[in-house]
Amino acid sequence: MTKNVFAQKVKIGDITIGGKNKIAIQSMTNVPVGDILASVSQCKQLFGAGADLVRLSVPRTPDIDSLQQVKKKLVADGYTKPLVADVHFSSIIAEECAKIVEKVRINPGNYIDKRANFKELNLSDYEYNLELEKIHDRLLPLIKVCNEYGTAIRIGSNHGSLSDRILSRYGNTAKGMVEAAMEFISIFNAENFHNLVISMKASNVKVMTESCSLLTQRMIETGNVYPQHLGVTEAGAGTDARIKSCLGIAYLLNKGIGDTIRVSLTEPPVNEITFAKKFMAEFGEKKAYSENIATPDFSGSVNFTPKSDNPETAISETCISLANSLIDRKINNLQINGDINGYANNDFAADLMQAAGICISKAEFISCPGCGRTNYDLERISEAVKREFSHLKGLKIATMGCVVNGPGEMADADYGCVGSTKDHVIIYKGQIPIIRDVPQDNAVEMLKKVIADNGDWKEK
Ligand code: SF4
Repeated sequence: MTKNVFAQKVKIGDITIGGKNKIAIQSMTNVPVGDILASVSQCKQLFGAGADLVRLSVPRTPDIDSLQQVKKKLVADGYTKPLVADVHFSSIIAEECAKIVEKVRINPGNYIDKRANFKELNLSDYEYNLELEKIHDRLLPLIKVCNEYGTAIRIGSNHGSLSDRILSRYGNTAKGMVEAAMEFISIFNAENFHNLVISMKASNVKVMTESCSLLTQRMIETGNVYPQHLGVTEAGAGTDARIKSCLGIAYLLNKGIGDTIRVSLTEPPVNEITFAKKFMAEFGEKKAYSENIATPDFSGSVNFTPKSDNPETAISETCISLANSLIDRKINNLQINGDINGYANNDFAADLMQAAGICISKAEFISCPGCGRTNYDLERISEAVKREFSHLKGLKIATMGCVVNGPGEMADADYGCVGSTKDHVIIYKGQIPIIRDVPQDNAVEMLKKVIADNGDWKEK
């Protein structure tokens, strides 16, 4: 296959993505940016491991000053690679961050529109366009700052954090995610601003690949193809998370889509970089941004034998080979052969089939990687949730870091445990909070109670 989607080049500080540039790998800190020492230390660790960019969450106005201090300290210590500020809900914070770091991520679902109440809005075309005009006006100061400072913008749509306006017109769909970004793209274009990177993220691999593919088509139609940031969000931890991320990212890279990647793990952030590097080494660094990409084609009943016995390498090579056939549902039966250290062939095959949505053999887990907003021991609790509930085949269970974005982004989960005040969580059934103020050490027990009260509990 010939790579036919070369995105236009975008400069982010001292790196350039898009065109035939290297696929940049990135991660995000998971400590509050206000903890300057910890943030600086994590950034250094990530850059040291090979990250091309590092993102930090900037949720509150006082965090702007902390971001400035982190940036200064890194530069003083010789770390000049780009930082990205992750901003939700506040145009003022985005504008200030754009003066400090090389890129700002905004979410079209909550940048100007309020957080979704999942309320059906029946806007006429006239009213809809008035909303777009309001968004246009509110983006002007950000565009001005970005032009002045050379800052790039990532327009990051997430499945589950779309506005009521978009949800009412397009639903919580791949199309809705794409249209949310396209509205912002056309405003930036009207102002002749092109320093853009776009992302479409979902915890469901199929929704993620569908939205990125659709976005590519829409950008080709409009004549401006911007670099895409690829990632399966809330993928969780361990082998399941690595498989979901690899399938989604490999599917798109195999089609010549994608310019920067993040493997999202509910684990120490440095694991994201070490794994992303292994994955890219398997994919073939050159292949990803060259004109010749072979998309492997398998169908029916498939026996696959990874060459490596290292689980991360075996996952990478298997997903790169099978992603397109699995996600396009051409494979109906899968057998993995060979000897992979600590990962049984049957489990590996079942996990691949489940991640591709072909065959469900256990509970599905969604968990965010955590960030500066996380206020409890997300890694430990999500591991415990996985251990206790994996036999509940057919249920989707989420463990999310914060109540700000967690409930929206676990939109299709049956049950969830979401961080609230320090070391406490809220237990959800679907989108409804059922038990509040649960100390984190009781989270598993309370989650089990809510699952049992609703008739979904089964003994192992
Ligand atoms: S849901 Fe998780 S990753 Fe997203 S903002 Fe909250 S803590 Fe951070």
